[in-house]
Amino acid sequence: MNKHQTNSPASASALDFSAFSQGLYIDGEWRGASGGASVNVTDPSTEEVIATVSDATVDDAISAVEAAAAAAEGWRSTPPRKRSEILRRCFELMIERQDMLARLISIENGKALRDARGEVAYAAEFFRWNAEEAVRITGEFGTAPSGTNRIIVDYQPIGICVLITPWNFPAAMATRKIGPALAAGCTVILKPATETPLTAYALASIYEEAGVPPGVVNVITTTSPGPVTSAMLADPRVRKLSFTGSTGVGRVLLAEAARHVISCSMELGGNAPFVVFDDADLEAALDGAMVAKMRNAGEACTAANRIYVQSGIHDAFAKGLTERMAALKVGPGVEDATECGPMITRKAVDKIDRLVEDAKLRGAKVLCGGSLASGTGFFYPPTVLADVDPEADMAHEEIFGPVAPLSRFETEDEVVKAANATEYGLAAYVFTRDLARGMRVSSRIDAGMIALNRGLVSDPAAPFGGMKQSGLGREGGQHHGIAEFMEAKYIATSI
Ligand code: NAD
Repeated sequence: MNKHQTNSPASASALDFSAFSQGLYIDGEWRGASGGASVNVTDPSTEEVIATVSDATVDDAISAVEAAAAAAEGWRSTPPRKRSEILRRCFELMIERQDMLARLISIENGKALRDARGEVAYAAEFFRWNAEEAVRITGEFGTAPSGTNRIIVDYQPIGICVLITPWNFPAAMATRKIGPALAAGCTVILKPATETPLTAYALASIYEEAGVPPGVVNVITTTSPGPVTSAMLADPRVRKLSFTGSTGVGRVLLAEAARHVISCSMELGGNAPFVVFDDADLEAALDGAMVAKMRNAGEACTAANRIYVQSGIHDAFAKGLTERMAALKVGPGVEDATECGPMITRKAVDKIDRLVEDAKLRGAKVLCGGSLASGTGFFYPPTVLADVDPEADMAHEEIFGPVAPLSRFETEDEVVKAANATEYGLAAYVFTRDLARGMRVSSRIDAGMIALNRGLVSDPAAPFGGMKQSGLGREGGQHHGIAEFMEAKYIATSI
């Protein structure tokens, strides 16, 4: 136990932000940054600074790699059952502290408390799921076709992993990587987004309490992600980069990792089509659209970004969606009644505004919302736009906000072509009562995940990930997530 543990965020019964103003978590200790610098954390609902965390330098990052390297042998040789029990304990502690963690996420990220509670449950599940996977890692055994030798395939931990996560799911994006990495026997350095570091540090305290040994998980925040990541990737002890974030940053990191031939898993941006056929159950499609569009106020990589509605159902769907969006209660995420919280930053709001103004200039009709709100906090009103031009910027870029753009279509071929007219291929949604058509369209849309008559696709037990420029590799799912953190070793032995 170190001197900071009594003041750890996870043990705080109420949200006392002085308990969160901690240093970097390296080798099981809370340390200030070697350069002495710190970075402010802002509540997007009030624009007030709520806490300060240390700003890691390249030297701090190398210390974290050293800690992960020193812990590597001990962790990979820890019996799988023991690793499993520690992961299970992480799950239990997260659930015990669900309310505290949800409030923390809600305050630093802005998302509505109900979304934050959902995120904690989802995030914790990656520990339970991977606790179960940790004891089921098996290999292969066979005879070579020549009959001269046996082929033994052993799956070994890949080694030290650098994990980089975004701000939109500060708990789940971290546990979706840490859970399988630890189950596989790897040690890690997590670099969370600078906008939402408090959740990552609160979780670090939970790992420590659950029995994760010092150095197995290290957490560093930095305002210099480029140099800090470059230094870690250049260190020959690092063997894996698992990144979740924008496609633009993903491309930069893939090039960087290529220089050192480091294994990469990439969970990148999305531009999900949401397709409603005439025969869809209208209420189910509306319910699904509200989840697919408005979970996290639209700040999700899986968010419905383009909504295609067949002519026969278009007007009823547009009316129903507008009523639901206009009725949403907008406010600070942490207030119980809030259904749509603020965006993460002023820059994010400005981007949404630019996309909406561009769509309006190209002839989109505003059915509700559609203009920037004034006042404190990074708010944008829930918005529905109809007749959005396929050339509008929002048809090609992630909106990442509470804006639902509708377009009308006539035929299945036409909508499949439109759905695939993007460099992204993460998630897609299809609503139809015709199962054969649902399966056919699901197979024709180029996306890693299809929600058929559902508004939610994420599940720790299913492989999450994208095609095309939405990513490489999968997280979660039976064997998929853990396989990203393992390497096959083949041993040939004479008969
Ligand atoms: P971002 O790419 O700006 O940042 C993601 C992370 O990368 C942050 O921790 C950031 O500090 C870090 N980063 C930025 N520049 C870096 C650099 N040069 N070197 C190393 N690290 C760097 O993304 P964001 O704005 O935080 O998150 C939103 C994006 O994430 C959206 O595009 C969204 O679709 C995507 N996302 C994808 C998934 C998925 O599973 N596919 C999940 C959540 C979010």
